Amino acid sequence: MKSLSQRITSLIAEAKNLGLLRHIPQVEKRDAETVKIAGRTLFNFASNDYLGLSHHPAVLETVAKAAKELPTSSSSSRLICGDSEQLRQLETDIAELKQRESSLVFPSGYHTNIGTICALCRKGDFILSDNDNHASLIDAIRLSGATVLIFKHNDPESLEANLKKVPDEAFCLVVTESVFSTDGSVAPLPKIIEICERYGATLMLDEAHATGTLGETGRGTEEQFNLKGRCHILMGTLGKALASLGGFIAGSPELTSALTNRARSLIYSTALPPLSAVAASAAIRTLLKDPAPLEKLRKNIQLFVNEMKKRTDLDFSRKVQTPIFPIRIGDEREVIVARAKLIEKGFYTAALRYPTVPKGAAMLRISLSAVHSEESVTSLAAHISEIISEKNRLS
Ligand SMILES: *Cc1c(COP(=O)(O)O)cnc(C)c1O
Repeated sequence: MKSLSQRITSLIAEAKNLGLLRHIPQVEKRDAETVKIAGRTLFNFASNDYLGLSHHPAVLETVAKAAKELPTSSSSSRLICGDSEQLRQLETDIAELKQRESSLVFPSGYHTNIGTICALCRKGDFILSDNDNHASLIDAIRLSGATVLIFKHNDPESLEANLKKVPDEAFCLVVTESVFSTDGSVAPLPKIIEICERYGATLMLDEAHATGTLGETGRGTEEQFNLKGRCHILMGTLGKALASLGGFIAGSPELTSALTNRARSLIYSTALPPLSAVAASAAIRTLLKDPAPLEKLRKNIQLFVNEMKKRTDLDFSRKVQTPIFPIRIGDEREVIVARAKLIEKGFYTAALRYPTVPKGAAMLRISLSAVHSEESVTSLAAHISEIISEKNRLS
């Protein structure tokens, strides 16, 4: 038999050959706006904490108070005895945020997608999936055993063409992100809903990056497009704008009850700690009460869009703005060099490579947050422009 060390050696060699070796960056310190890596303090443009709620005084104060009284762990699955007042309160708060009757909290967004899709879909069912969907959705779809049809990214015509292939009597789930995690593009929800309703398909929306960023008050994509209550299944994470850990489904009480019975990633995994629930609840209440972080985020987005337009031929004006911007580089090694140049200037950004994006489509991803200052946003745009014009000179 092949040994474990042979296997490990070949795994590492494969990654190296493709320029895809990954390392966990050794973060020494993190505050609202910066990360310290290898002794250098860098402006953090790679975080999903879009509103800075992980450092908001109201959230921190609530958590500090609760920490004095709460146990550190839920100690078992919700269904054994890991339930708590804090988790139930959080589910009430999520239902209010997402304007649904019910919600169900999972240990993470990844657990949520795996548990929900595998509970609802099985062999013989159909799942229609956007080509650019997140790994957690792809894994869930594969594990479910349903027949998968991929439609072109954000393309309602391709969605409809695929729906025509689904037998009338089949159960069909359409799955898409609303704000795409890699490039910040927004799904054309009005058209998608109209088509799903016409064909009788069920729509599941992954709101991981839309919660806290889209809509007048940050509730998400339904609020953005004035389509309250029209999606069958709303999924989200508590780990991004909601500044904690965990994932959720918002929908009808029948939906959450079915998932409580069938979602294996909920039933067989320890519930999130009560203190994480308190943090997420505090973030939701802050989001709904204090419009300042979302206003500041939108100012920063506009500033970045304007600065990039002034300096490059990249046009980031979109119908619906989000805090995520792709700087498309292409080559996997080149994107690492580009990120290193930005680190040199004091800015930390994410380098996305295969399999997060297709081979040869590597990119830097810029995530803006309410905590960034005008100066740092402007200066980042200037440094990115330099990288782009140098790339254009060389090619
Ligand atoms: C981050 C993310 C998830 C997973 O959420 P976690 O809470 O981090 O596990 C799911 N879907 C999308 C689109 C994401 O970006």
